[in-house]
Amino acid sequence: MKLTYDIECRHCGAHTRHSTTVYYPTLSIEQIEARMHIDTECAIRCPVCRYRLNSSEEEFRSQVHITREA
Ligand SMILES: [Zn+2]
Repeated sequence: MKLTYDIECRHCGAHTRHSTTVYYPTLSIEQIEARMHIDTECAIRCPVCRYRLNSSEEEFRSQVHITREA
């Protein structure tokens, strides 16, 4: 599936968007989101300032919004 990340960085204020294709055949979007903020090996960073956006669930939820496309 294709995931689109809307990133609103609280560190530098940049609003960015990018898309990625992932293959998690058994996971729902909620489970993917949960995995992304829990998985410390998968740092989500602001593409402008490289500030890490998922060091906590609260930071993740307030700065990263994921939408799924078919
Ligand atoms: Zn930033």
